[in-house]
Amino acid sequence: MIAGLIISLAALVATPGAAQAQGDSVQYWQQEANYTIKASLDAENHLLSGAETILYKNNSPDTLGIFYLHLYPNAFRDKASPLIRDYLQGTWRFLVGLPKSMRGWLDVKELTIDGAAVQFTVDGTILKASLPKPLLPGATATFDLTFEEKIMPLLGRSGYSGEQYNMAQWYPKVVVYDQNGWHPDQYRMGEFYGEFGAFDVSITLPERYVVAATGTPVAGDPGWTKNTPRRGGAHPGGKRPGAAPAAAGGANDDPAKPEALKTVQFRAENVHDFAWCASPNFMVQDTLYNGYRIMSFFNPWNRAWTDTTLARGLRAMQWLETNAGPYPYPQVSIVDCMMRGGMEYPMLAMNGSADEGLVLHELAHNYFYGVLANDERTEAWLDEGFANYAVFWNVEERFGPFGKPDNRSFPFSLFREQRMWDALGKSVINLHRIGYAERIATPAHEFKNGFSTMPYVGAPLFLRALRYTVGDEAFRTIIHTYVERRRFKHVDEDAFRSICEEVSGAHLDDFFKQWLHTTKQCDYAISRFKVKRATEGFVADLRIERKGELMMPLALAFRLKNGNTVIERLDGTPRTIAKSFTFDSKPVSAAINPDNEILDVYRLDNYHPRRRSIALDVPFNGYYPGDSYQYRFLPIGYYNEVDGGKAGLRLRGGYDNYYRKIILQGLYGFESKKTDYYAAYESPFGYLGKDASIFAEMFQREGRQGAALEIGKIRRTSLFDPLAKRLAFSVRYHEINDTTYVFPGTYQMGRDIVGGIRFEINPKTDVFASALSLAYDRSLWGSNFNFESSPRPCGSRRRYGSISPSSRTCDYSSATRRTTRRSRNDSVSPAGTRSRRIASSGCAALGPSRLISTTTSTSPATRTCAAITTERSRSSACSPQTSSFSFRSRFR
Ligand SMILES: [Zn+2]
Repeated sequence: MIAGLIISLAALVATPGAAQAQGDSVQYWQQEANYTIKASLDAENHLLSGAETILYKNNSPDTLGIFYLHLYPNAFRDKASPLIRDYLQGTWRFLVGLPKSMRGWLDVKELTIDGAAVQFTVDGTILKASLPKPLLPGATATFDLTFEEKIMPLLGRSGYSGEQYNMAQWYPKVVVYDQNGWHPDQYRMGEFYGEFGAFDVSITLPERYVVAATGTPVAGDPGWTKNTPRRGGAHPGGKRPGAAPAAAGGANDDPAKPEALKTVQFRAENVHDFAWCASPNFMVQDTLYNGYRIMSFFNPWNRAWTDTTLARGLRAMQWLETNAGPYPYPQVSIVDCMMRGGMEYPMLAMNGSADEGLVLHELAHNYFYGVLANDERTEAWLDEGFANYAVFWNVEERFGPFGKPDNRSFPFSLFREQRMWDALGKSVINLHRIGYAERIATPAHEFKNGFSTMPYVGAPLFLRALRYTVGDEAFRTIIHTYVERRRFKHVDEDAFRSICEEVSGAHLDDFFKQWLHTTKQCDYAISRFKVKRATEGFVADLRIERKGELMMPLALAFRLKNGNTVIERLDGTPRTIAKSFTFDSKPVSAAINPDNEILDVYRLDNYHPRRRSIALDVPFNGYYPGDSYQYRFLPIGYYNEVDGGKAGLRLRGGYDNYYRKIILQGLYGFESKKTDYYAAYESPFGYLGKDASIFAEMFQREGRQGAALEIGKIRRTSLFDPLAKRLAFSVRYHEINDTTYVFPGTYQMGRDIVGGIRFEINPKTDVFASALSLAYDRSLWGSNFNFESSPRPCGSRRRYGSISPSSRTCDYSSATRRTTRRSRNDSVSPAGTRSRRIASSGCAALGPSRLISTTTSTSPATRTCAAITTERSRSSACSPQTSSFSFRSRFR
C-alpha cells in the first residue's frame, strides 16, 4: 500500500551498544548528612536560635580536608547581595535594593568537629572550615554548632508575615560533595542541592502555634487539632483575605506574663532538606491515602482552601503514584504560605493559592527534587521541567487537547482557542524567532531572558518531544524506572539519559544535546507535493527541506480523498528528503507533524496546500493559529461632514501575528462618492539580523494621500536590557490635494517628502518603561514650498487632532506598539523663510499607557518651538528640517 523507503523510528535511532554499559554501572556514591537541630523561636523579636549536630559520613573515595556549610539567610544581609542582584536583573540596581527593614541573616556562633573547636570563615552565604584532621573515605565526623538567625519579613521563599513563619533555608546546611567535588555555591537565582540523610528537629515556640513540617511529629503537640476547620469561615478579624489578624487564636494578652511555650519534635528520613511553617491560625485537614497522610494547612480567611486543597492534593497524589510510582514518605503537607507561587520541600509544599496546577506541580516535586535530588541551580530544567510536565500531562489527560474544562465563560467562548501544547510551544518559539532563546540546560543564574520560559516550558516541550521520539509506552516505563532506580539519590542529565537509552534501546545523545545544550531551531518545509495517477492508485511525490539545524524524526500526515488519514514516519536528518508514496485513494493534503511535537518554529510551510484561516477582527480575539496564515475582517463605518456616511471593510492578515502582517482598508463616502483606502505591511527584516523590522504604508484619505517606508532595528543585550536602543530610517511622502476636510485657512495644498532618522533609547526598570527619542527629519526633493504662508505664528497651539492621519491608523499602531510620526509641510512664508511644519505624533505615542507624553520640536535653522501635549501631540517649527526630542514613560 505504501511505497517508498520509510525508515522506521527503531532504525532511525540505531540500537545502542554503549548505552547499557553506562548508567548505574558507573560507581555511584553519595555522602550522608544526619542532622539533629534544637531551635527556639523568639516570636516577639523574630529571632531563631539553635544548636545543631551534623553526623557526616564520607562515602566518597576521597579524603576531605575542608568542609562547607550553606548559610542561606545571609543572602538577605545586604542591600545588594548576589541573590538580590540576580532578582533585579534588568533594572537600575543603584535605585533599588533591599531596605534595612527587610534584611535577615544567619550567624554561626561556635563550631566544633569531633569536639575540637574549628576556625572558619564566612563569605556571604558560604561557611568554610578546615578540618583539624582529614576525613578519610568511609569515616564519620560529628559537627556541633550553635546559630542565631534574624528572620526577615516574608520575601522570596522564607520569612514571617503577620504571625505566620515560613521557615525555609533556615539552618546551617551541609554543602554537597559529589562526583564533581564540592558545590560551595553562593545563594543566587535558582534553587538548592542537598545531601540525603535523617533530620531530627525540635522547635520550641509559643504554645498557640500550629506547626507544619517536613517529617512527622514524634514528641510534643504540633497543634493540629487546635483550630476546627470552618467551611467558608470569615477572617477572624474581619479583614481582607491575605491579611493576617494581629492577635487571633489567643495571643499573649498579658505582656507581663511570659508566654507559654512548647517544644515539638519532628523526624524525617531520606530527605535532603527540612522546612517548617508555623501560625496560630492554621486550620488543618487531612486524610489517609495508601498508608500515608495527606495534609492541608490553611488560613481560615482563605476560603478557597477549605476542602479544595485536600481534595486536590489527594487527586494529585493518586495521579503521581500511577504515573511515577509509590510515594515513599509517611506524610505530605500542603501549606498556605501567604505569598505568590509555590515552593517545594521534601514532604512539604508551600503554596500561595489553592490552584490545582500549583498543587500538582509542588507535589510532583516530591518525586522530581525530593526523591530524585538534582542540583536545582545548575540543572533547573531537571526538576522544574518534570514538575511542569506532570501538570501538562495530567491536564491533557483529564481535559483533552485544550487542557481545560469546557465551561468557558462569555465572551471568550466566541473565539477559537489555542490548544494547550500549541500555546506552550509559542512561548518558546517566539523566543527563537526574535533571537533570545536560551539553552534549556542553562544554570538558573545564567539565564538572561528570564528564568521562567526555558526550564518551565522548554523542558516540558523537550519531554514531550522525547515521548514522541521513544513512543508512549517506553516513555511511561522510563519515568517509572527513573523514579524507582534513582530513589533517594542525586540525579543529573546523564542519569536520566542513560535510563532513557536503556529503556528505549535508542541512542539519544544527539537528541539530548540538541534540545538541552543548543538553541538550534527545528524548521522543516514541504517544498513539493505532486500527485499522479498510477496503475494501482495514486503516487504522491513529496520533497521536504530541512531549513533548521535541529533534527527530529518526522511524522507525515496524508489526508486522503476517502476521508482517511495515513501517518508515515521519516528520518529527518537529511537536508532534502524526496520520497514517493502510493495510496489507494487520492491524497489531497500533506502535513509535517500537525501536532508539532518537534517544535517547528515556522509551520506555515509544514502544510501542502498552505493553510489559510478567517476570523472576525474584534477586540479580545487573541487566537492566532500557528499552522495557517490568518485573515481577519472587520466592517467599519463612520461619518464626516464632507463624505457623509462612510462604510467599508478592514482586512488584517499575518502569520502568527508576526510574519508578513498586512492591513488593507477601503471606505466609501456615500455623499462624496469617494473611496479612501489604507494599506500597510510589516514584517521582521532578517537582512539586518535579529530585532529588525520593515514597515510600509500607503493611503488616500479625506483630501490627503501619502506613503511611508521605515526600517528599524533594536539593539539590546537581552530582553531585560535596561537600556535597549532602536534606530530607524524612514522616508515619508505626504500631500494635501483637497482642503475641504480641514479648518479653512489651516492647511494649504502642497506636497512634502521627508527623510528621517530616529534614535530611541528605552530606559526601563522593573517598575516603569520609558522611551527617549531623538529624531531628525528633512524635506527632500520634490517637496513643494511655493504656496502661501499661514498667518499663524510659529509655536501657537491649536488642535488638529481630528485630521491627523494617525488618528485612523491608531489601532494598527497601538497593536504593534509602534510610534507613528508624520510631518506635514504646512506653508512657506512669502519672504522665503521656510515653512511652518506640523508634526503630529501618532496616538500610540500616548499609547495604551497614557501617562506622560512630552514632545518637543526644535529647529536648528531659525527658531525653536515646543509643544507639550496631553492627548494628541503636535509641534511646530519653521524649517524644512525638524529635530525632535520626546520622552514618554509608563508603568509596566
Ligand atoms: Zn517548581
